[in-house]
Amino acid sequence: MDPYRTQANLLKLMAHPIRLQILEALLHDSECVCHLSALMHKPQPYVSQQLAVLRNGGVIVDEKDGTNVFYRLVDGRMAAVAAAVVTGDDGEATASATLPRHANLKDCPCPKCRAGDGCCD
Ligand SMILES: [Zn+2]
Repeated sequence: MDPYRTQANLLKLMAHPIRLQILEALLHDSECVCHLSALMHKPQPYVSQQLAVLRNGGVIVDEKDGTNVFYRLVDGRMAAVAAAVVTGDDGEATASATLPRHANLKDCPCPKCRAGDGCCD
C-alpha cells in the first residue's frame, strides 16, 4: 500500500480529542476501559467505541487478564507517532520511565486502582 496513505490513515485515526487522550494514557501503561472512562469522565460505552476505532486501525491491541480487558499501544512506529503528537517530543521517551505511570483514581473500579488499596495484585 502507498506509505503516505498509511500515514494519512494513522493521523486520521488520531485526529480526535478523546482518542488522543486515550493514546496519551496508554503511552504510560496499559489500561482497561473502566479506568479510561473514569480518567476522562466519559461514559464507558463511548470510550469502548473510541477504543474499537483505534483497535481496528491497528494502533492498540486488547489483552484479556481474567475478566478484565487491558488496552495497550502497539509497539513501534504507531507508539512513536502517538508520543510525538501527545507529548510534543520526538518519541524517544515512549518506553522511558520519565513518563508518569498509571495513576490511581479514587472512583475507578479497575483492578489497578483497587490494587492500590492493598486488596490484591
Ligand atoms: Zn483505574
